[in-house]
Formats: sequence, C-alpha cells, structure tokens
Amino acid sequence: MPHERHLVVFSGAGLSADSGIATFRGSDGLWENHRIDEVCNYLTWERHRDSVHRFYNARRVALAEVQPHAMHRLLASWQSRFKTTLITQNIDDLLERAGASDVLHVHGVLTRMRCEACETVWDIGTTAWDPSMDCCPACGSKDKVKPDVVFFNEPAPLYEPMWEVLGSLRRDDVLVVIGTDGAVVPIGGIAEQLKCRKVLNNLEPVAPENFVRGMVAPRQFDRTLYKPAAKAAGELDEIVTAWMAAWSGSGL
Ligand SMILES: [Zn+2]
Repeated sequence: MPHERHLVVFSGAGLSADSGIATFRGSDGLWENHRIDEVCNYLTWERHRDSVHRFYNARRVALAEVQPHAMHRLLASWQSRFKTTLITQNIDDLLERAGASDVLHVHGVLTRMRCEACETVWDIGTTAWDPSMDCCPACGSKDKVKPDVVFFNEPAPLYEPMWEVLGSLRRDDVLVVIGTDGAVVPIGGIAEQLKCRKVLNNLEPVAPENFVRGMVAPRQFDRTLYKPAAKAAGELDEIVTAWMAAWSGSGL
C-alpha cells in the first residue's frame, strides 16, 4: 500500500496565548499565595481539594471569555484537507471550538471532570465545580472528583499514542510545531531525529542561556516562523500546503 502522507501538528501554550489564555502563574510562581505545585500535584491534590478546584474553576470559567483565532481555525481546516493528527499540550477547548475533532489532548481537558473512584469522565463546559455540592454522576463520589487534567506526578496515558504518531512520521510526512519551547515534551529532540519535513512557529527563539536538551532550535527544522501564532497562519498554510502537495518520489 502506498504511504498516505501524514500531517502532524504539535502545539503548546504559545498557540492559545494569542487568544488571551492566562497562565495564572505570577512571576513569583505563586497563585493566590499557593505554590502552583500545590494546586496541580497528583500526590497532594486531595489534601488541597478546595484550592485545586478554585484554581481550575477560575481557569475554566475564564475560557468562556476567549475565542479561537486564525491559527486554531487553520489547524481545524487541515483536518478536512489532509490526513491530520492534532496533538496539543493545551487544556483549553479552542481547537474544538474552531471546528477540530479528535484532538489528542496529552495533558487533559479543562472542560472535563474525572472521577478517580470509578474512572468516569464527563463534560462540564465552562462552569465552576463546587466540591462541597457537586458529585460524580456515575457513583456519587465528591472527594474523588478532579479536573480531567494531568497534574504533576500523574501518569499521562496519552503520551503513548503521541510517541506512536510522532515515531511513525516518514520522509514525506510533515511535522508542525507551534507555541512550545520543548521543555515539557522534548519535541525539539524528537524533531531532530525525524526525517520528515518540519516547520516551527514560536514567538521567538529559545535564549541560549535557557536552552536545555530536548528544546526546539532552528537547526532541527526546515523552516522557522518567529511571530505570534495568530499572525503566522497564512504563511504556515502556504508552507504546509506546498509540502503536502509536493511530488513524493518513492514515498519512502
Ligand atoms: Zn465516580
């Protein structure tokens, strides 16, 4: 069977920053005087349940105020034009609201809750969760309900399909990396090893003094677009469309 050319997009916080998604992380690394680690740590979240829910409620409710931009819409449109896999570290639903489906949210989704007692996952949209009143719709648990978001020290089950997709990329396939420096998922190191065509869109290069192994660097990519994601959509579409349409030789 001939290999159907595959387009894979890996995105991070820089994609949604242009929509005004706040990180909630102050320059001091604190949120309302809580250490960030305290409100999203799998080992301790049940001890800090109220602040965990207040933290994620604030982020979830704020989602209702933001809109997807041109890049979210472009990525969604690629799904109808190419064999496309969208992988994102973002927990917002802006890709879905731009029309995308089957997005691989490797760090979970803010608009869903998960019950640790019975493993039920359900959507609550952009509403706040009241840990004193609300409970799991399947088993009634209150204490075991957490945002369906991967906390520090929590297994990320979707990393496995992510590695599989990235590892399957061949010479004529295309990898697009948007809005991430590669500090969490070492996408720079992965890109370096892949033989496919690769393009990076970040606001700016990683400063040399901050660079650690696995991060993105211009030499790992065929093309780099250093500008806000919302302003890179037109240029990125031209690059990807040309690559996806190019003569593929042997297809290997
Ligand atoms: Zn349950």
